[in-house]
Amino acid sequence: MVWDSFREDIHVYSQGGVDRWVYSTCNFCSNGCGCYIAVKDNKIVGIKGNINCPVNAGRLGPKGECQWESNNSLDRLTSPLIRNKAGTLVPASWDNALNLIISKTHHQLREGGPDSLGFYGSGQSMLEDYYTLGKISRAGLGTHRTDANTRLCTATAEWALIQSFGADGPPVGEEDIDQAQVLIFIGRNSNETNTVLWERALKSRERNHGRIIEIDPRNDLSTRFADLDIRPKSGTNIAVLNGIIHLLIKNSWLDISYINNYTIGFNELEMAVRTYTPEYVEVISGVPVWKLLQAAEWIGTASTVVSILLQGVYQTMDATPAASLVNSIHLITGKIGKPGCGPFQSAGQPSAMSNREVGFASFYPGYRNSDNPYHLQEIANLWNVDVATLPVGAHTHIMEMVDLMAKGKMGLLWVIFTNPVVSLPNRNKFVEILKRRKVFLIVQDPFLSETAQFSDVVLPTAMWGEKEGTMTNLSRRVNLLRKAVQAPFGLPSDLDILIEFSRRMGFKDKDGAPLIQYTTPEECFNEWREVSRGRPCDMSGMSYKKIEDMGGIQWPCNETFPNGKIRLYEDGHFPTGIDEAESYGTNIITGRPRTRREFAQLDANGRAILYGVEWSPPPELPDHEYPFYLNTGRIVYHWHTRTKTARSPLLHMAAPQGYVEVHPDDAARLHISTGDKVRVSSRRGSIIVPARITDTVLPAMLFIPFHFGSIAQNQAANELTVDVWDQVSKQPMFKMGACKLDKFHQ
Ligand code: SF4
Repeated sequence: MVWDSFREDIHVYSQGGVDRWVYSTCNFCSNGCGCYIAVKDNKIVGIKGNINCPVNAGRLGPKGECQWESNNSLDRLTSPLIRNKAGTLVPASWDNALNLIISKTHHQLREGGPDSLGFYGSGQSMLEDYYTLGKISRAGLGTHRTDANTRLCTATAEWALIQSFGADGPPVGEEDIDQAQVLIFIGRNSNETNTVLWERALKSRERNHGRIIEIDPRNDLSTRFADLDIRPKSGTNIAVLNGIIHLLIKNSWLDISYINNYTIGFNELEMAVRTYTPEYVEVISGVPVWKLLQAAEWIGTASTVVSILLQGVYQTMDATPAASLVNSIHLITGKIGKPGCGPFQSAGQPSAMSNREVGFASFYPGYRNSDNPYHLQEIANLWNVDVATLPVGAHTHIMEMVDLMAKGKMGLLWVIFTNPVVSLPNRNKFVEILKRRKVFLIVQDPFLSETAQFSDVVLPTAMWGEKEGTMTNLSRRVNLLRKAVQAPFGLPSDLDILIEFSRRMGFKDKDGAPLIQYTTPEECFNEWREVSRGRPCDMSGMSYKKIEDMGGIQWPCNETFPNGKIRLYEDGHFPTGIDEAESYGTNIITGRPRTRREFAQLDANGRAILYGVEWSPPPELPDHEYPFYLNTGRIVYHWHTRTKTARSPLLHMAAPQGYVEVHPDDAARLHISTGDKVRVSSRRGSIIVPARITDTVLPAMLFIPFHFGSIAQNQAANELTVDVWDQVSKQPMFKMGACKLDKFHQ
């Protein structure tokens, strides 16, 4: 156990004690805290932290402690719903609902072909669900229209890792946080998003007499705890990171031997940062010269540095270039692949990593390149299907699917365990498509979410604690979620529904056997283990029992590393060989995919890739009409669109409604006080929310939590956001946009 001591956080409501505790993992954030579920009379009645889990040593945050409450929510759906001719959702039998889906799917395949239908999944499902979805959609339906809400969340982490190192997979483990002298949080308010990780970082600083650098425009709790707070204007991350690299080079805080032996592209990087003097960076970003000098000195002279990124980098227009610069800082200083060093390009959701590993909203399973004919043949062999039936090339990201639906080129969308009506940028564009009822919408969700209210069929499902499976956390640690109780009303799991769909569709392999031959999550995991063998995310050495016994295992886990591996790239070898890489990569700015030939010409061949990138202003800046920067984000009490957290009385009471943060100078000028109703408007729409006057935001910046999305309440941040995205990762720009503010008079 690396933490100094454990603390068993516990939250139980039970009259007469607990019958049993069942092994599980928190299903809210990417930290993946180990836990046990309390069961009384076949009902979930509480939770406690797992003191033997290396991730959390028994700790749980507020969301984790309260997550079980939504299982017992009285408004859970009890049976499928089908929209009748009068336009009303009415209860239906499982047979009727599934038959309708099968007939609509066949109709759509006949009328529009495989690319006229698509799936939109989640970052909170199980690895086994994603694997099955990927197999059904590609080898069954032959469609590449598969994406997930991970696109909105941390697609950039995946792409930054691919672009720099050749394949996905954060190179560090939680233990590296414990050993780092300098921790850099970039665009990440961990005190709100991953509270247990934040506690671990504070403990590390105390133990190591270390330092925390926060790079974030908001002055929130984590910034106030930092030893150095850098508050750049929105959209200026690249200038700040280039400025730090400029100073590292100028002061020779470099590992020349590492650069020469293990990287390519240093000259390009050096040329690009040449003009980013601290003075120039201050002009662009507003960051004082002394702060940039201090940050560079701490990073350059410390022997161990871990950087931890999230949405402040990932949800911007220049997301992948900026995230790649963080990788470059570690590469040119040689602070990667050794204890206490490396970039934590992290996931946000509990199973976003699983989604990427098994290739649902990403490449082919096992980080196989969907443009590489050898990788496609491998998958075809593993699945026993004809390689010619597998879609080649990039899959379709969700914003592209929205455009295709708007143009009438997609007629069926199956949404699983997510709520795009609240979470997509410029959500009205999507809502208008749904209102036209030209797209047959299937929603799989335990609750009648804002998206489910627009659907043609709703399939209610088992929740956390009522089904089994695995998830990979932000440090590549695979953990298990055991089934603690039977789902109420006999509700099936997501996996049950997908297997039944495949059976009813008659999907077969080359020999006429069912495409999906497993019937349980564990059998599915065992198939996946073999598919992962030999790839970077090798899980061939894992089993459900071993995962439970060890409290989670970090991949790769195979014959060479039977107990997993804390960190990657300790030998300086990166998976950039042409038939090793997950992708041939893209132009770092335009996103144009490299051809196989272009990738070969790079000659990275085992070395990491450095990129030189220039800062350019974001596409939408404040102006005379819309004078405020719009920033959106997360708060500690809610998860995503509150489908579960709003059903926890404690979490709901702590944060019952949306609001906007306004700087005191702006509030005084506009005569706004805390609690006043204000209207926030952008070129996309407007919302009415109460104001909070606080210096957490910079002057001329507004911050709105994105969780609150009821159509009736009109508090959704995504009424305002811009639907443009980073050209490499296709992750939307939730953190930047222009808006205006005025006091609302009824
Ligand atoms: S930090 Fe994340 S995984 Fe841990 S208890 Fe909180 S929400 Fe759950």
